[in-house]
Amino acid sequence: MSFGGWKGKGGGLRYAIIGGGMAGILAAIKLKERGETNFTLFEKADSLGGTWRENRYPGLTCDVPAHAYTYSFAPHADWSAYYAGGPEVKAYFEKVAADYAIMPYVRFGAEIDDCRFDDKSSQWTVTLANGEAFVVDVIIAASGVLHHPNIPAIPGLDTFAGKTFHSARWDDSAVLDGTRVGIVGCGSTGIQILTALCDRSEKVVAFQRSPQWIMPVPQFEYTEEQREAFRKDVALIDEIRNDPRYWDNIIRFTKGITDINGPEMAAIEDTCRQNLEDSVKDPDLREKLRPNYRAACKRLIYSWQYYDCVQRPSVYVETGSIEQVEPEGVRMKDGTFHPLDVLVLATGFRADRFIRPTTVTGREGVSLDDFWSVRPSAHYAVAMPSFPNLFLLNGPTGPVGNFSLIDIAERQWVYIDQLLETIRAGRGKVVEPTHEAFEAYEARRIAAAKTTIFGSGCTSWYLDKTGVPSSWPWGYQDFADAMAAPVMSEFSFRN
Ligand code: NAP
Repeated sequence: MSFGGWKGKGGGLRYAIIGGGMAGILAAIKLKERGETNFTLFEKADSLGGTWRENRYPGLTCDVPAHAYTYSFAPHADWSAYYAGGPEVKAYFEKVAADYAIMPYVRFGAEIDDCRFDDKSSQWTVTLANGEAFVVDVIIAASGVLHHPNIPAIPGLDTFAGKTFHSARWDDSAVLDGTRVGIVGCGSTGIQILTALCDRSEKVVAFQRSPQWIMPVPQFEYTEEQREAFRKDVALIDEIRNDPRYWDNIIRFTKGITDINGPEMAAIEDTCRQNLEDSVKDPDLREKLRPNYRAACKRLIYSWQYYDCVQRPSVYVETGSIEQVEPEGVRMKDGTFHPLDVLVLATGFRADRFIRPTTVTGREGVSLDDFWSVRPSAHYAVAMPSFPNLFLLNGPTGPVGNFSLIDIAERQWVYIDQLLETIRAGRGKVVEPTHEAFEAYEARRIAAAKTTIFGSGCTSWYLDKTGVPSSWPWGYQDFADAMAAPVMSEFSFRN
């Protein structure tokens, strides 16, 4: 067993953070703030940024307002626009990591293959793909959910003569200007790509299996004068971050998705329906774009430009079923053929993977694959019985929707940190939720999740394989309250 390359320093608990995206960076900063120095952030790639590193597609934009998609402790005066582009978001995370001096704790090119708990020593051994192993007391799994591309099983895909690739594996050598581009999928990703290409490519064919509800939102650039003002007075940024209208929207949205026949949901649906009626002139196209499920059942698309772009003469929305991909393009079941130069698979992610394919073995040899055989879940989305001192950030059953996951992760950290404090204080060497507490929580969660808008009758990555929404099913304030203080009687402590 090798201990070379351990980045941690000093005594105290030893921590492994898995993943250098938004949540892993947060964990590193927060540990350091606590005075903990004995930790390593393991990142399999060669730079930080997580999803903002993986995704480089044209049109990539964060559809959460930029000043809200920042750590509460690291406001950023330099956002170029209300909604910021992907490269800017990635650069922000890199800057924060540098500013908070966590880079010395980061180990790149370090893919964790296995995590194994030893019952006798109450320690975890994490093993990298290269065989190196490290013994730690605590694991923070921050490896994200939208991570493993979902490649559709379309016959003939490998016969395509042009370039074809998943949206999260963008091929920079693909020529998009003046060429014919097909986009399979119209989730948040497919729609952003379409809006970027509608004026660049000669032809864009959107292969749409299900249309999307579109929430109209404003987009505007910040002027240099505004940015200068933000730099001089951080209170101006706080005003935007804490804008009651933004927070009222979040509360309304989360109330709407949990009270699906209430006035908040009705208002969301009215806005989306009216947007479609007002924006799309051609009645045939309007009907093609009209979903047959309720708004926010799939993640809402926030866009200021999709309906404009989709009506361009260069764009064709294909709603038929794909028969096969051929060397020169895509053949539909009705015989229609779309000749293409590039075929983008904006077909989403295998959202049930989380930390896997890393193998994880907890107390008494319990494997994570077995524990998650029905569905990935965790006590309050954060910890699991039989997996002592293993904590998840943005893990399964946490809040999902159209709001900042940074805020969610920060709140989860407050919960995790209180559990860690009990260990630091010597209440036990390890902490985990009891099976009884977890099972009671999970039964309540599942019952409530079925009644949320995500369970109202559509397909989406929000659903687990049994069709139950894999999300926090209560309101935003309930989440904030739950994260503010773990119920310690729901946890067991061991040495
Ligand atoms: P997605 O929402 O899962 O959408 C996948 C799309 O591919 C859907 O339109 C789906 O159709 C289609 N599809 C999948 N398999 C197919 C097949 N075999 N044949 C035809 N169509 C197929 O994936 P995504 O667009 O990559 O977005 C995933 C998530 O990433 C979002 O929900 C969001 O959370 C996040 N995201 C965020 C931003 C942001 O701005 N913050 C931007 C992009 C993505 P069906 O709907 O019929 O299944």
